[in-house]
Amino acid sequence: MENLRKVIRNAAVLRTGHLIDGDWYENIERNEFEVCNPANGEVLATLPSATNAQATAAVSAAHRAQPLWASKTAKERAAILMKWYELILANREDLAILMTLEQGKPLAEARGEVLFGASFVSWYAEEAKRIQGEVLQTYSADRRVLILRQPIGVVVAITPWNFPSAMITRKCAPALAAGCSIVLKPSEETPLSAIALCALAREAGIPPGVINLVMAGRDDAAALGRVLLSDDRVRKLSFTGSTATGKHLMRLAADNVLKLSLELGGNAPLIVFDDADLDRAAEGALASKFRNMGQTCTCANRILVQRGVYQAFAEKLVEKVRKLRLGPGTEENVTQGPLINSRAVEKVRAHIEDAVAKGARVIQGGHVSAKGPLFFEPTVLADVNPEMQICSDETFGPVAPLLAFDTEEEALTLANATQYGLAGYFYTRDLSRAFRMAERLELGAIGINEAVISSEAVPIGGVKQSGIGREGAHHGIEDFLEIKQVTIGGL
Ligand code: ADP
Repeated sequence: MENLRKVIRNAAVLRTGHLIDGDWYENIERNEFEVCNPANGEVLATLPSATNAQATAAVSAAHRAQPLWASKTAKERAAILMKWYELILANREDLAILMTLEQGKPLAEARGEVLFGASFVSWYAEEAKRIQGEVLQTYSADRRVLILRQPIGVVVAITPWNFPSAMITRKCAPALAAGCSIVLKPSEETPLSAIALCALAREAGIPPGVINLVMAGRDDAAALGRVLLSDDRVRKLSFTGSTATGKHLMRLAADNVLKLSLELGGNAPLIVFDDADLDRAAEGALASKFRNMGQTCTCANRILVQRGVYQAFAEKLVEKVRKLRLGPGTEENVTQGPLINSRAVEKVRAHIEDAVAKGARVIQGGHVSAKGPLFFEPTVLADVNPEMQICSDETFGPVAPLLAFDTEEEALTLANATQYGLAGYFYTRDLSRAFRMAERLELGAIGINEAVISSEAVPIGGVKQSGIGREGAHHGIEDFLEIKQVTIGGL
């Protein structure tokens, strides 16, 4: 923590514990866990795992505070959210540095994410005022029916480490705008960003108990999750993370019939047709695959290239990959930081080994870098086929596997041959094909000649085993609202 104090200007964002009912609990009462800088292994902070009593206290606080928060006018909630937005912008540099130190992404990307995360707060501040009910056409002359849209209540939000800021605001901003209260459990890898955001939320005037934060080390996360989800005062779970954990939480949530938003794993295809603008496609593949070191659930996991342009595309991509710069995210001009932890490195290595054993060729990278044990060279694999593990399993790392195909139908079949259905991309100049593909790809989000498709203004979410619900846009607030019909008779 001492080292953090030297680089973070606003000491108020540096807390070392849980936020429950407006108070910080920083003593170690259960196990402690360390937050490390993946670039060099330095321990940034030692934090407490929440006790069961603290988890329950957080739910109690949220349950007490929610009706009061919901009874504020939408305009009042919006004003507080706008204040939070302004504080995030004012503390942008501190938030970006914290993120780079605990997560590893280059500072330029971290700065971008802080802005991206903040954009959800301003978006939902506006959206709060546009939650509207309905008056139905009557089905009986002496009756009228009103439809109310009301906040669902206490929300448990469990967030991942790959976007330590944006995954929190994308859930908390619509929940707060709708009039819900929150118990946030951030990833054990990146709790410092979560703590800073919650400190700013309190400073903005979000009342005690409306936003609570409890955390736990990896070994205690399951126990904390169980206490939160078994509390029958909780009405909703919003989770972003792996499909395996999502399924587990879905089972737990069944006991109390919780409303669910799940944003889970992906296995995004990026398809390059013969008629594509190859430079644009290579640029898109680079951005999609290597941003955040490939640790993005919407990032291209399989790059399908039509045979006529396969060689030319591979050369263009490799040329661009060679220009990427690996190093600590805090260094100037670095584009690729470390992976989050050794498990991530092992998965990347295993996928490459499996692919090579089954006939793939490494045409760029392929190894852990001399920069350190978590730095992995940006890698391109040629001659990949669907039998390889890398095609069915999300790599979540900097490996671009290239598969050749012959026909549009074959590309479509390959692209859909997965249980995942989050995002996908294709490059073509043929308008008819663009519509055919967009309509037949089994995905929640598609980029045509475009590989960066996230924004607060668009709904993101998966089909198949990639999840349930949508985040972002006006659709994102629906997940935090319940519909209630009110029938008035005897008129
Ligand atoms: P990863 O393995 O990449 O960290 P996870 O899906 O396991 O992805 O983690 C996403 C979030 O889910 C993190 O906040 C993590 O602590 C949390 N988590 C993991 N397992 C559980 C669990 N059994 N109960 C509650 N939360 C969990």
